Amino acid sequence: MPSALKCHGLPSTTRTIRTGGHGLTQTDPIDSNPIASAVPVLECRSLERRFGGLVALTGVNLRVERGEIFGLVGPNGSGKTTLTNAITGFFPPQIGSILLNGRDITGMAPHKVAALGVARTFQNLALFNGMSVLDNILLGRHIHMKPSVAKTALYWWLGRKDEMAHRLKVEEIIDFMQLQSVRDELVDSIPIGLKKRVELARALVAEPSFLILDEPMAGMNQEEKEYMARFILDARDERNVTVLLIEHHMDVITGICDRMMVLSYGETIGTGIPTDVMKDERVIKAYLGGAHAAH
Ligand code: ADP
Ligand code: MG
Repeated sequence: MPSALKCHGLPSTTRTIRTGGHGLTQTDPIDSNPIASAVPVLECRSLERRFGGLVALTGVNLRVERGEIFGLVGPNGSGKTTLTNAITGFFPPQIGSILLNGRDITGMAPHKVAALGVARTFQNLALFNGMSVLDNILLGRHIHMKPSVAKTALYWWLGRKDEMAHRLKVEEIIDFMQLQSVRDELVDSIPIGLKKRVELARALVAEPSFLILDEPMAGMNQEEKEYMARFILDARDERNVTVLLIEHHMDVITGICDRMMVLSYGETIGTGIPTDVMKDERVIKAYLGGAHAAH
């Protein structure tokens, strides 16, 4: 077990946040967006997404700064997954724009968004049953694999070098995520907590700079949640990943998120430091009102 979690439950955030690309750090005082920089990792402006007559998102603005773990919460059906699908290009917004590191990616195809360093995990596990843990994780390398059949045929040793590099990265992440003991197991045969960990490992082998996690702790017991919280913190601290974390467990949000946003019926009803946002009356009402339906 990671040492910080042995007896203290969920780790608390240090609020030490990397700024820009210059390696400086600054301490996060208590206000709504203390680390605002000229170019955030993610900026969503006035997003609207409809499905037929249903307005799943409207007027949503969001800034995620480099090095943040940013929490996204809201009752079931409030638009959290829709927002991640808009960002990652699966269901682009009909109105508004999305900027990644200052570049407009609105409507960009999912594989192009992935190639820009965005990785995600899915609310409902998207692992390939019948394949091993190792092979499922290796699939996450595909964005770095060149479609070079000719090169591999002509210069087989170059292809082999690529293959070795991919395997090395996968081994590094298997160690990082502490999955050695199940690496050769069929992914269908391992418990849900480990499956979720395999999904995170698959996202990390893509070497993302921005990671979107859609309910990575759903269905987990307390110990598995604590492990996952530690892995997310370590991904941010050791692998320089900025994280957008969709999560229902409030202890996780207040424990590891630097800032958060609350959605209700597709609209933002609160943004800021978790301890402040959670005191907001609208948030309490919307969240408690929807908590029974939440999953
Ligand atoms: P959350 O992730 O917060 O639980 P979702 O983003 O999944 O909520 O859903 C928000 C609303 O949009 C819901 O009413 C849902 O039924 C609807 N919705 C989401 N995705 C689709 C889709 N692909 N087609 C039709 N309706 C959708
Ligand atoms: Mg969802």
